[in-house]
This record gives sequence, C-alpha cells and structure tokens, in this order.
Amino acid sequence: MGTIIGIDLGTTNSCCAFMERGEPRVIINEEGGRTTPSVVGFAKDGERFVGEIAKRQLVVNPESTVYAIKRFMGRRYRECRADFALVGYPIVEGGSGECAVEVQGRLFSPRELSAFVLQKLKKAAEDFLGEPVTEAVITVPAYFTDSQRQATRDAGTIAGLDVLRIINEPTAAALAYVHDRRKSSTIAVYDFGGGTFDVSILHVERDVAEVKATRGDNQLGGADLDRLLFDWLSQQFQRENGVPLPSDRVVVQRLRDAAERAKLELSTATSTDVQLPFLFVDAAGPHHLQVTVTRAIFEDLIAGLVERTLAECRAALTDAKMSVDQIDEVVMVGGSSRIPMVQERVKALFGRPLNKGFNPDEVVAVGAAVQAGMLEGDVKGVTLLDVTNFSLGIEVKGGQFGRLIPKNTTLPAMARRQVSTVVDNQRSVKIHILQGESPVARENVSMGEFELNNIQPAPRGLPRIEVTFQIDANGIVDVTARDTRSGLSEQVRIDAPAGISKADLERLTAQHADLAAADAAARELKAVRATIEGQIVSLEGLQRAHQGVLHRSDLDGLDQALKRARMALLKSSDPSNLKELADYLQRVQKHVRARV
Ligand code: AMP
Repeated sequence: MGTIIGIDLGTTNSCCAFMERGEPRVIINEEGGRTTPSVVGFAKDGERFVGEIAKRQLVVNPESTVYAIKRFMGRRYRECRADFALVGYPIVEGGSGECAVEVQGRLFSPRELSAFVLQKLKKAAEDFLGEPVTEAVITVPAYFTDSQRQATRDAGTIAGLDVLRIINEPTAAALAYVHDRRKSSTIAVYDFGGGTFDVSILHVERDVAEVKATRGDNQLGGADLDRLLFDWLSQQFQRENGVPLPSDRVVVQRLRDAAERAKLELSTATSTDVQLPFLFVDAAGPHHLQVTVTRAIFEDLIAGLVERTLAECRAALTDAKMSVDQIDEVVMVGGSSRIPMVQERVKALFGRPLNKGFNPDEVVAVGAAVQAGMLEGDVKGVTLLDVTNFSLGIEVKGGQFGRLIPKNTTLPAMARRQVSTVVDNQRSVKIHILQGESPVARENVSMGEFELNNIQPAPRGLPRIEVTFQIDANGIVDVTARDTRSGLSEQVRIDAPAGISKADLERLTAQHADLAAADAAARELKAVRATIEGQIVSLEGLQRAHQGVLHRSDLDGLDQALKRARMALLKSSDPSNLKELADYLQRVQKHVRARV
C-alpha cells in the first residue's frame, strides 16, 4: 500500500500532509510552498496553471482565473446568487442545475476545477515522496451538506485519487491536537477560513476524540470580510471622486485584491493606506484610489459577521450541553482566525487564552494526515467519533418533517421508520428525503426523492414500508425503502441535487487525466524550448568570442548546430526531438569549449 495523503482542500489555500514514522509532515509543493493557493488559471492557449502562478494572473486575467470555487461546490445555481459578487469569473447554470464556470467557451463544474487543485497536490506529493500516490483523506467544512461532500469526493476521483475518507475540518484540527498532546480535555475548535466558518466542541478522553457538537455557516468566511471592505472602499472612492467605480472586471479585481491585502495588513498594523494609481481612465482623465483604512473602521465593518461566528459558538455549547467553563482549550484554525478582533472576541467568549500552538493554515491538513495514518495503521490507539451536522428525515403527512436521525448523532448512524400508503391499492410510494431542523418539510433542504414501486395491492395504511437511513463515517447518506411484505427494496445513495452520474464521473476522470497529460506535455515542451533558446545564446557567444581561434571545421560545426536549433524552434513541437537536439547542442558546446 502506498502512502495515504491528507488534504485540506481550502477555499483560499490548500495544504497536503502525510505521516512519516508516526509523525505528520507537510508536503512542500513545486514552488517550495507549504500551502498552495486554490486557484486555477487558464492561459490564452487553454493551458491550465494551478496555485501561485495562477494567483499571479488574477488581476490581469480575472475572467479566466478561478478562485474560491469551494463556495460553489455541490450547490445549485439558484442557491448561490448572493455569492456571485465574491468572484470575478462568470458563474453560469450548468447541466443539472448546478453552478458552472465558463472559461474560454468551455463549461467547468466546481468539482472539475477543484480536481485541478487536487491534481496539483497529488503531483506535489508524488514528487515529494518519490512514489505514486492514489489514496487520500480530504477534509470538508463540518457544515458541508451531503451534496457538497459528494462533490468533494467526486473532485478527488476526477483527480485520480481514491478518497478513503471525508472528514470535517474542525475534527481534523482536533485530531492533530489529540495526536500532539495525548491528554484528556474538552476543546473548542474555532475554524474561520476563507469561505466558511465552523465550530466544533470535542471531548478527548484518553485516545478517544468524541465530537459533541458542530455548528457553522458555509457562507461566512474571509471572502465576506473582503467584500465588506471592498464596498466601503468603493463608497470612499465615489465620495472623493464624485464618480462611481466602473464594473470593469479588471478594476473590480484590483480593488478586491487591495481590500484583501489591507485586511491582512490590519491584522498587524493599526492602519493602512490603500493606493491604486490609474485605477481607470474616463473622459475626465485618470482616476486614482487613495484611502486610509484604520483597524477601527475595519472592525466596525466586520463586527456583525464576527458576532455571527460567536452566536454559532454559543449554539454549539448549547447543543453539546456544556458551559464555557467546561472548555479546557480553544484551538484557532483558518486564516481569518488571525484577525485581532476575532481573537479578542473568542477569548472573551470562552474566558481563556487561545491555543495558538498550531499553524492555522496547516493544522487541518495535519489532522487529515493523522486520519490517514489511522487508516494505514500507522497511528494507533486514536478513535474518532464524529457527529452528523444536520437532522435527517423524510416528508410525512401534512407536509411535516419526520426526523429520523437528529443532528449531532455520532457517526456512523442508522435509523428506521415505517411509512404506509394513503389510498387503497396504492402501488408506489414516494420518499422525499430532507435535511434541516424545521418541523415543516418545505423549510428544510431537499436531498432528493425516490419511489418504491410494485407495492402489493392492499387497503390504505396496511402495507408496511420500512425506510432506513444510514450515514457513513464520511457523513454521506444512503437511504433504503423496503416493502416488508414483498421484501422488495429500493436503495439510493442520495444523488446530490446538483450531482452527476457515475458514467459522467468516469468520463470526467478520463478527460481530466488526458488534460493533465496535455498540461504536462505542454510544460515539458516549454521547458525544452527554453533550454534550447538558452543554448543558442551561449553558442552564439562562443562563436563571437572565439571566431579567430577556432578551427574552420569547428566554426562550421557551430554554424550548423545553430541553424538546426533555430529551425527546430520554428518548426518542431515534438518534445522528444527537441530533447535530442538539446543533448546534441550540449555536446557541441562541450566540444567547442574544449577546443579554446
Ligand atoms: P484559509 O481558508 O484557512 O486558507 O483562510 C484564508 C482566509 O484567511 C482568506 O480570506 C485570507 O484573506 C484570510 N487570512 C489569512 N491570513 C490572514 C491574516 N493575517 N489576517 C486576516 N485574514 C487572514
């Protein structure tokens, strides 16, 4: 068995780790980074870049640079409208009603785009470990719904990874803590990232980590704080210049970028200047943006959102039936947990110093690696008991919600309920599966519907149909309905409302492998062309410098080599031919150097 890697697939940054002789280790990517921006950029020729290079083209090429795609994972287009303003690329409605991104005339689903990021992490792990990597544990926000979890798992599959386990981010952070500290305590994990907020309360007793409660908000993260600052900066600009900012994508992206930078600076400085010279030009001439933002202004802007995270913490304590004084440690996770105001408020809420002993950017990936180690048998003696984050049930008489599995039930979980027919000789029953907390079915999230057919004819209310819900350790739901008389049953792995079929997944996986191979070939071609260009420059240098010293035959040989190289650069796009040529040029160079 190869190494199982642990991946934190973040909204803003992703991180990958593995267990080495029982200790977690973060994998360094190609660029030397410990985290990789979750950004996918498309060049004009369709070539894809992921990570730091893609992030660099964000301002100049906002329409072809995709970031924060996690906000749209497994969600329907019509549910996401409020989030469209957070990004600079166009979101459209994909085939099955899910969000899709249109880049250079092609539609990509969020799972495909996330797969590009995962593929980059997989490659980094393979380079780092020197062996193929095919298995992974991937983390998701605790509040991810079933369809968001499935989309994440699909993304792994498309990237060529067998996703052995999906675990909740705060739970992963807690696992990192348990592995490191190995002491009994009750901990709160406050995880405020780029796109989501989660809080989990866990109790660790010897080596059993039991999640007591989890709360969160999938639509609350650093990007929302950036948005508030962005709006404030736009208003300041309009007040000072008398004209509104144009909706031009490059202008918007520059301001978005500046807003995030200012936010980061305000975590250490008490004020910062936002300067965007020549932001745009109109009939009145060039317009520049120059605004000073103080930490006090920023804190005023974000106070409401920070309060929302605290309200979730209080609710999590209530769900866990605990009071703040029962919490021994507060572990801070996610980039937004670095904001001083956030730290002060969380500290005040829990009435204790915060645990800053873990790197908030890496602790989730480290925890995923610990979970991978548990699956590999490398980490012994740690048992993780996680919980469901939503109540699950079915629609029953009168549009009510029949709860089968209440939220915060320990996973894996199973529950049964009997339903029956409402008219005589009814041959089929429709089962509507829902998740949420409202007693009214339509106020909860619909996870899908299925029908149990061929029920034996009988007076109404007589057939006994047993509906069984099972939630596995990944938080993924299976539902079965069985007519107890005929034994007929129907099983559905809940097809995410914005889900895709197995055949489509297989097609995308194959397509992705082809795209990855094409990208690798394009990169190889670029690299070998760059080598030859460099060799031409040095051969020309040799030719000039040693014209008078070199023998006629050497000069002719040099001349020929140069001609061949220039011609190949113009005509050839075959990497193996070009590689042969580069080897030949190197031999020529060596030979000439030996002669002078
Ligand atoms: P994550 O999803 O954990 O990678 O968190 C990324 C989010 O954290 C982004 O919105 C970043 O802008 C934000 N972030 C990172 N570092 C800081 C910082 N020092 N101060 C404020 N926000 C930060």
